[in-house]
Amino acid sequence: MSFNSIIGQEEAVSILQDEIKKERISHAYLFAAKKGSGKSKLAFEFAKAIFCQESELDSCGQCINCRKLEHQNHPDFKIISILEAKTAISIAQIRDLKKEIAYKPYDSEHKIYVIEAAEKMTKEAANSLLKTLEEPPSFATIILLTEDTGKLLPTLVSRCQQIELKSVSQSKIQKLLLNKGLNSEQAEIISRTAAGSPGKALAISKIEAYFEKRKEVYDFLRDVRNKNTIEIFAITKKLSELLQTDFPCFDLLSDWYRDIMMIKQDYLEAVINKDYLSDLKKLAQTLDLKQIIKNLELIAESEKNIELNIRAELSLEVLFFKLRQPDQ
Ligand SMILES: [Zn+2]
Repeated sequence: MSFNSIIGQEEAVSILQDEIKKERISHAYLFAAKKGSGKSKLAFEFAKAIFCQESELDSCGQCINCRKLEHQNHPDFKIISILEAKTAISIAQIRDLKKEIAYKPYDSEHKIYVIEAAEKMTKEAANSLLKTLEEPPSFATIILLTEDTGKLLPTLVSRCQQIELKSVSQSKIQKLLLNKGLNSEQAEIISRTAAGSPGKALAISKIEAYFEKRKEVYDFLRDVRNKNTIEIFAITKKLSELLQTDFPCFDLLSDWYRDIMMIKQDYLEAVINKDYLSDLKKLAQTLDLKQIIKNLELIAESEKNIELNIRAELSLEVLFFKLRQPDQ
């Protein structure tokens, strides 16, 4: 693996390679992009290119440093992420980083730390990290990854060199899926649902019986107004279980109403679920724009509540009861 394995981020790769070439590697970077865009992969390949003993602007995959990184046992590279069963990066984790980063590198001239989901640092952790970013050791580089720069301390952001990852084109993602052996219809549908995120597309493509599960969701949604309570309980139970996997539950729900909205605007080329076009067109005649927007807000609210630790089943039940009975 090398920079070549990163899809659709040529600009970011070229900026980073330029830094290596000019020997001007920053002490702090911020890679911002939505989930599945390849932030972690980019940070890892960047570290490999810096550490590699053979290849100048990329990694060879063969030298001792490349191999140590691939086997996750390079002493000068560390990834900090939210610990299992926790919801944030704690101050204790950042204190450990600060303690370790002060020591000289073992195996090379650099020490690289990657902080995943940096927006999920506690306030104390972020403030503590800020002090290190103000006076970093000369050999240290910290790469912050985030899905939302707006949720980071502005003082932290200003200390970092910001690298914006691009949304990857649908055709590139479709090609990626075709290369993985999906047929053209499946590749097209998944690449549209993935909305610019190759990581998400790959995750969806690995879900067992994905198209059957998607069909169940859309069969339900198409007729949501006529569903009885037992049917609502059944689908919420199923979806709350699927939420534990990579199943793109909320993407499917919001894409459905977004598609109806696009049809109402006569903007058919933007429709994601083209295989449901005739159903969506019928629904577009029964729903007014205000109601569609309301439904999209309800879906976003339900997703947010689950992120805030409201029980998924409860949040989805409330959502479907509200979708069943519009204009409330
Ligand atoms: Zn190498």
